[in-house]
Amino acid sequence: MSAQIIDGKQIANQLLEEIKSKIDQRLVDGKRAPCLAVVLVGDDPASAIYVRNKRLACEKVGIVSIAHNLPANTTQEALFALIQTLNADPDTDGILVQSPLPHHIDESAILALIDPGKDVDGFHPYNIGRLAVRQPLLRSCTPYGVIKMLQASGIAIKGLDAVVVGVSNHVGRPMGLELLLAGCTVTSCHRHTKDLQSHISRADLIVSAVGKPGLVKGEWIKPGAIVVDIGINRLPDGKITGDVDFAIASQRASHITPVPGGVGPMTVATLMENTLKALELSEQA
Ligand code: NAP
Repeated sequence: MSAQIIDGKQIANQLLEEIKSKIDQRLVDGKRAPCLAVVLVGDDPASAIYVRNKRLACEKVGIVSIAHNLPANTTQEALFALIQTLNADPDTDGILVQSPLPHHIDESAILALIDPGKDVDGFHPYNIGRLAVRQPLLRSCTPYGVIKMLQASGIAIKGLDAVVVGVSNHVGRPMGLELLLAGCTVTSCHRHTKDLQSHISRADLIVSAVGKPGLVKGEWIKPGAIVVDIGINRLPDGKITGDVDFAIASQRASHITPVPGGVGPMTVATLMENTLKALELSEQA
């Protein structure tokens, strides 16, 4: 059996088109475009690429993006002050602080300072809590992107046995909550999981979010399972790969996401959706 490849890029482009239409309609109605503040501290090359992709997506859909590029030696106090200014600015709808931040800055304290109504990454404890109590508001971009991608692919997941590998606050944990909300029976696997293979080989849906190439062996995949690979790993030869052994897994799964071109574009598209939503929510307040 050869799996159907889920084309995240195409699904993300479709979503971006829909967001652009909504923003175009706002302008016709005399309303303003959403505005996203993008805060980048330091000169991490990977972060610079992510921020550039987000800026390009903003341009594509008509979101105003304002870059705040700060030097690596920016103090926590200075970053606090910037977030407070952006929180208070009525023309800023979304605030994105690109991670990782330099080690001398307490990232969770910065993220917790962002107004939850402007937390378009969906990382604030308030927004994670809303998801946990089945009242999602601004949802973590990558897990929400996975859900939207599966929906757009016509894949029904209610009732499936799902395994999420990785339990980070920004990706693995909210992914588990999203799948629970969608009606899956969810198992979260992590560093201390005793027998990863036994969990994965029973799963109808596997989502891997670890950042270790080859962690999920292709032979472990149950025939007909759905495989979503969130991991992004750069190999010594410069190629980008996921966590899942794609060559073998794609011979066993019913559906599988590629890396690159799977979940990554969805993360950017849901960030755009969240930014528009943040503006709409503030207008309703
Ligand atoms: P992270 O913060 O490093 O978290 C990795 C998670 O994997 C942690 O929960 C860790 O456990 C767990 N883990 C480590 N070794 C493991 C093992 N052997 N077995 C099972 N679990 C293990 O990374 P992240 O931010 O969640 O990102 C995960 C991956 O997704 C990375 O490759 C990242 O680049 C990628 N990513 C992709 C997108 C996208 O749009 N496609 C977006 C975000 C992230 P502990 O908590 O115990 O350390």
